[in-house]
Amino acid sequence: MGAMPEEIHHLTHHLKQRSVRDSGMRTYYQGKLSGIPTVIVFSRWGKVAAAATATNLILEYGVREIIFTGVAGALHSDLNIGDVVVGKNLYQHDMDATPLMPRYEIPLLGKQFFETPPARTEAALEAAGRFFKNIKHYVSEAELAKFDIRAPKVVAGDIASGDTFVSAHAHKEHITSGLPGVYCVEMEGAAVAQVCYEFGIPCTIIRTISDAANESAEVDFPRFIETVASRYSEGIIRELYKKI
Ligand code: SAH
Repeated sequence: MGAMPEEIHHLTHHLKQRSVRDSGMRTYYQGKLSGIPTVIVFSRWGKVAAAATATNLILEYGVREIIFTGVAGALHSDLNIGDVVVGKNLYQHDMDATPLMPRYEIPLLGKQFFETPPARTEAALEAAGRFFKNIKHYVSEAELAKFDIRAPKVVAGDIASGDTFVSAHAHKEHITSGLPGVYCVEMEGAAVAQVCYEFGIPCTIIRTISDAANESAEVDFPRFIETVASRYSEGIIRELYKKI
């Protein structure tokens, strides 16, 4: 699953024996990627949309694991635009049913976050590391320079998801004051992780940092997605598939 139409677009070109089907306002591309039966779909934005897409992948297509890619805003001060975060624990930062249950707890599951399997996290970290070695094959030096991407890195860290695009410092502070260890913020990961948890299948969440989740994020968002983030997703997924 990709959180941007542009990023799934590049990957669908690598699918062999491709077939395409529309369902519930989504387009599902089915085929083989590196010989592995795969379905590629744009998640759409926000927790509900991503959860519905994940559920459909599991029930209609019988997928046995989900790999999610997209962009995110940095919360951790060590992160720069162009870095990659592989999700460890996934929080829903806007879930708050206090005083009925502790803040962030997902009703009826008794969990404040969803873990991703360590072996999957490790495989994604290694794939991103291999991708960075070949990054110039995917992203031109001019584009890397435009976004000031010099020595991009990949880290494993916790991710917060919620139904808001975080672009104000006060909002960022509100999230990090409750979840101080969280690396980045986005709008889908923890919803996909919840669906995977409920169906008992593994999930991997891979996020490219596109902004600093504040007013000063001077990113040309559409251009970053088209020339950088979408190529990251393509490259990292292809590297990951080589080792499955
Ligand atoms: N391309 C769209 C913008 C989509 S933004 C447009 O131009 O209108 C929403 C996507 O960016 C979601 O997938 C979300 O997960 C991610 N995202 C990136 N930075 C974020 C931030 N600072 N806060 C929340 N979500 C962010």
